[in-house]
Order: sequence, then structure tokens, then C-alpha cells
Amino acid sequence: MKVLLDDKIVERNEVKIDMEDRGYQFGDGLYEVIRAYNGTFFTADEHIDRLFTGAKKIDLVLPFTKNELKERLYKLMKENEIETGNIYFQVTRGIAIPRDHSYPDPIKVPAVFTASTTKVPRDQAKMDRGISVITLPDMRWLHCDIKSISLLGNVMAKHEAHKVGAEEAIQHRDGIVTEGASTNMWMVKDGVIYTHPDGNLVLPGITKIVLLDVARKAGIPVKEEAFTLEQLKNADEVFSSSTTIEAMPIVEIDGVKVNDGKRGPVVKQLQDLYVKAVEEVCGK
Ligand code: PLP
Repeated sequence: MKVLLDDKIVERNEVKIDMEDRGYQFGDGLYEVIRAYNGTFFTADEHIDRLFTGAKKIDLVLPFTKNELKERLYKLMKENEIETGNIYFQVTRGIAIPRDHSYPDPIKVPAVFTASTTKVPRDQAKMDRGISVITLPDMRWLHCDIKSISLLGNVMAKHEAHKVGAEEAIQHRDGIVTEGASTNMWMVKDGVIYTHPDGNLVLPGITKIVLLDVARKAGIPVKEEAFTLEQLKNADEVFSSSTTIEAMPIVEIDGVKVNDGKRGPVVKQLQDLYVKAVEEVCGK
């Protein structure tokens, strides 16, 4: 499998990352995951915009324009013959010696970019069946809007879920649900869809933008309003969203069934609307 190292396509085992790379040492960098269907990226511009917004927030000088980045990503997808799958890419603040917390001069220390691809079909069976999750306190930092490669808090939360056979961890701050370890979180109550508003406590999900848009166009009431753990546990439906899982029903929380423990009608409708939105851009 080929990968991108800056503007070059190379074999993965040819890539040697310097131990002084600030991504390796500090987690000082940003990442994105874009999904392609039938050889076309879905919402690539939104993902690329989020990377540029994040870079601005941390004064990271990106070594490409938005168009150059998109071209490179397409080149790698074609090279690896990915029709439906994911592209992961990250940019770190480069190789600075000696190790020092403060940012180096971006002229002397250019950012380092890498990208890799995976072929992944939509997991329809799981999207029909749903997943079980746990809840736990959100122990992460207060810049969750930045898609940072420093993911230890998210990694620890996901591990807690996996230890008990669950697939995702719903995090909360003082009883207010924020988001999953790698997903945005949603609930449905009395026909209204709720999700935490953007801000510094959650990642502004690209899938969330699409789901909010298709829901509003379909006339489903949506509130970008935070909700409590108690509301979550008494919801009619619960689901999570991300680029790789689209809208995923949550059918069990902390070992207790959500409603009847089956995918509900609203998330089913959203899944169908999401597929339609994808097909309009990427074909069937
Ligand atoms: N929240 C977190 C913490 C994430 O890591 C992700 C995706 O990786 C999301 C939300 C969903 O974002 P998106 O829909 O852009 O994939």
C-alpha cells in the first residue's frame, strides 16, 4: 500500500519519521479522515476547511493550499485503487531540535504531512443492529474543537468501553453529555433531535453538519442543545455520528437497553437521508 509523505507517493515502509518530530514528541499536529464512495470524496472541502481552521488556531503553517491538498489526496486514492474507503492524513509541526515546548520558527521548521488509505465498505449489518456504549466523565482538555493528534484522553475512554465489550464511550462533563471518544452524540425525544452545540467542548463534526442539514430539509425538528445523562438514558432513540460510521444507532447504554433495544425510526430515516446525500455527490 502506497502512502503520501509531503508531496510524494511512496511505499509505507520507505517512510522514516524522525524521532525529533513534534508530532511524535508532543502530539503537536492535526489530522482528518475523509471518506470516499465510488471513487469520489464526500464533504472533502468541509474536512479541508476544518484542517485549515484548526491550523490557524494553533499557528501551524500548512505546507500546501486547499487545492494542492485535495489533489494530493485524490492522487493517493487513485494510486491505491480505493473506490469506497477512508483516507487518514495528518500534519505535524515538523522536526525541531533541541526538543522545546514552544513553537519553532515555521520558516526554519516546515510542517510534515503524511496520508494513508484503507478500503472499507459500509457496515450495513451494524448500522441496522446498532451498538452498545458506556458512559464516563469527559477527562479531556478544553480545546475539543481542534482535531488534534494528541488523543490520549479519547484513547483511554475508548479503551474503557472495549474492556466491557462496548464500542463507544459517551463522555459527560458534570452530567452534561459532550460527545463520544471518536463520534458526536445525539438523542431523539418526542420527535425532536438533540445534539451538543459546537464550541470548545466537542469536535464540530462534518457528519453532524450533513445530518443537521438533511434533517432540517426533511422537516424533522432539530435542537443544537446540550442534554444530560438522565435525558440520554430516557431518550426514545440515541445515536452517534462520524465520517466512518455515518449515523450509528446506540441500542444499549451501560448495560441497559435504549427503549426496546432496537434501531428507532428517526435514526433509520437519517441513515437513509445520509445515503441519499452521499449518492447525490458520489453516485450509487
Ligand atoms: N468527535 C470526535 C471526538 C471525533 O474524533 C470525531 C471523528 O473522528 C467526531 C466527533 C466526528 O467528526 P466527523 O463527523 O467530522 O468525522
